[in-house]
Amino acid sequence: MKAQVLHRYDEELTAPSWVEYEDVPDPRITSPSDVIVRIGGAGVCRTDLHIIEGVWRPHMDPTGQALLPLIMGHENAGWIEEMGTEVEGLRKGDPVIVHPKITDGLSLTNRRGHDMHGPGRFPGLDSNGGYAEALATSVRNLVKLPATLAPKDVAPYADAGLTAYHVAKKAARELVAGQYCVVIGAGGLGHIGIQCLKAMCAADIIVVDRSDLSLGLARECGADHLVKAGEGALEAVLSLTSGNGAEAVIDFVGEHGTTSLGLAMTRAMGNYYIVGYGENITIPAVDMIITERNIIGNLVGTWAELNELMSLADRGLVKLAVQEYGLKQANEALHDLHAGRIKGRAVLVP
Ligand code: ZN
Repeated sequence: MKAQVLHRYDEELTAPSWVEYEDVPDPRITSPSDVIVRIGGAGVCRTDLHIIEGVWRPHMDPTGQALLPLIMGHENAGWIEEMGTEVEGLRKGDPVIVHPKITDGLSLTNRRGHDMHGPGRFPGLDSNGGYAEALATSVRNLVKLPATLAPKDVAPYADAGLTAYHVAKKAARELVAGQYCVVIGAGGLGHIGIQCLKAMCAADIIVVDRSDLSLGLARECGADHLVKAGEGALEAVLSLTSGNGAEAVIDFVGEHGTTSLGLAMTRAMGNYYIVGYGENITIPAVDMIITERNIIGNLVGTWAELNELMSLADRGLVKLAVQEYGLKQANEALHDLHAGRIKGRAVLVP
């Protein structure tokens, strides 16, 4: 089959092309629970840029064995092509979205549903992913799509959408009408997060972003207040919240100073949810104690939550802004993402 393959890291992200379009062996069934999915769409994620930069190298490659060449792509949807002998209840051609973490489901953590924290693999990061015509996964990872949703239109839900849903669900549990939730970053994840918050809670949503394109998208997604990032952004949020800050701040950026900004926008006893990454969070312990704020990490979501998100999408409560590229155009998509030229989410379609 054809695939886009990463052969070398580029720490500065300056190379004109990062992945190479080439022939690779077809993925094979190796266990009775395996499923081969014909890719209908593979989301292009900022994590892919971080992989190219080598940020994930210590985590993906702890034993020092060479991980490259790697087929990236951890946000996948498509149709069932081939199934292992133990797979039941699915048919060739069924449309599916793929939960990104493959586990055997047997550890206590996995049995509790927390697959992200149990042992397993993450295709696209530590093994071959979906920048290709087909992908090997497990039957445990599949969520069958309703007839309303086409694979190429939903692929980014597998990680970006699921992560945004996971954090929005946590925040929505605590938020009531009259309270505020700040969303920092209305790009690929943020624009989904805003819609999930709108669907699940009655708090006022304040969106902070440096891009007018993203702020426009935030407005379309239901944001109540828009704040342009930069000088005056903190004052604008404090003024909207009677000087107190917001009960919840969801930081989808996590770099370029957003972590200190986000914490400054979080009111006493409020929750600061960190989703994006790239810089260190620094705060004096005494500030944490005096204000009783919480800093909460977020990592993708569960298989059950992917089902919940598909229910929201099926009912039209969450819509993805998707920019389509052919599989051959992977470098163009990655560069457009790096340059901030994508409204919503880029998807590669073989
Ligand atoms: Zn992703």
